[in-house]
Amino acid sequence: MKIHEYQAKEILRQYGVPTPKGIPCFSVDEAIKAGQTLAQPVLVVKAQIHAGGRGKGGGVKVAKSPEELKAYANQILGMNLITHQTGPQGQPVRRLLIEEGADIKKELYIGMVVDRKSQRVALMASPEGGMDIEEVAAHTPEKILTVLIDPMTGLTTAQANQVSEFIGVPKELWTQAEGLFQGLYKAFDEKDASLAEINPMVITGDGRVLALDAKMNFDSNALYRHPDVVALRDLDEEDPSEIEASRFDLSYISLDGNIGCLVNGAGLAMATMDIVKLYGGNPANFLDVGGGATTEKVTEAFKLMLKNPDLKAILVNIFGGIMKCDVIATGVVEAAKQVKLGVPLVVRLEGTNVELGKQILAQSGLPIISANNMADAAEKVVQAARG
Ligand code: ADP
Ligand code: MG
Repeated sequence: MKIHEYQAKEILRQYGVPTPKGIPCFSVDEAIKAGQTLAQPVLVVKAQIHAGGRGKGGGVKVAKSPEELKAYANQILGMNLITHQTGPQGQPVRRLLIEEGADIKKELYIGMVVDRKSQRVALMASPEGGMDIEEVAAHTPEKILTVLIDPMTGLTTAQANQVSEFIGVPKELWTQAEGLFQGLYKAFDEKDASLAEINPMVITGDGRVLALDAKMNFDSNALYRHPDVVALRDLDEEDPSEIEASRFDLSYISLDGNIGCLVNGAGLAMATMDIVKLYGGNPANFLDVGGGATTEKVTEAFKLMLKNPDLKAILVNIFGGIMKCDVIATGVVEAAKQVKLGVPLVVRLEGTNVELGKQILAQSGLPIISANNMADAAEKVVQAARG
């Protein structure tokens, strides 16, 4: 789950991470009032969307007067902000952060992720912070230092100093920088984050270390123990199909292809997308209906896929283990009848009661294209999608 910059900063402040003072706003009037409350000579107007690259896209502006602040708030609020992370369709801006302007001497990068290989939190740091960290990672990876944090000791002072030295924090600010890293790690750990990023972390003209941007993502499997984090969810920023899917306990991710995939089990769903690609097709979605796929769930899954105007064909790939193939076949037939399927449907069933399942499909009177194995299914659905 993702949250906004201003929300991440609120969390980080609770852990002692220094940030500029700021006020979130939902209207231009609120932005003007926030400017008066903050009463700073320089204020920054920042679009709040769940995507980075806002600066480059025109979503971060420095205002040097109340008039400028008003003009920028007007301009950014309601704009369709396009960044490399939003995709070409962009994301409408519904919230702003009005923030005290910092006197930036240096922009640095600090990020934390869960490193599955070492089973630890990895801290990544670079002296090349700011808006081009993707370029740094791609072209000069030697400018990124990775430090693995031992959960028993936490981030040690020696590690913090190593990071500060690598990214060029002046020695007299190492204690301050360590405070920021420790706060970030504690927040990451206690809130079950999957990613936390401060880009840029800055050194200011008056010798302070500040988090100027903040991004946090959370492990959705751990949200049950963080109601405070769940309360920060902004559904406006999420894909409506994915929200709908979560209501029915379906794992659904929208993709940009035209072949809908309905599969039981995440591993099989991944393999299905791979084989569709191998045969020259493009999946419209990842969809795992789970082990106990009821007719209701399968119907909802069909409805979700059919909402996509690009959809050209559907592939149902089910392995009947716990779930028997005849039960699944009945569900598919029922669902296909209910939603009045307008695109070709290819079904591949395997497992318990497979013969009975195939018989149910064949006798349904529906134009279902039956497949014998995954390769056959992929070939048939790619063909069907081409029309
Ligand atoms: P994004 O990463 O989405 O582009 P940032 O919050 O990192 O958004 O802002 C982009 C750039 O704008 C920063 O790299 C920094 O140079 C500048 N900036 C952001 N916040 C402030 C601030 N409070 N004071 C001064 N400059 C800022
Ligand atoms: Mg940033």
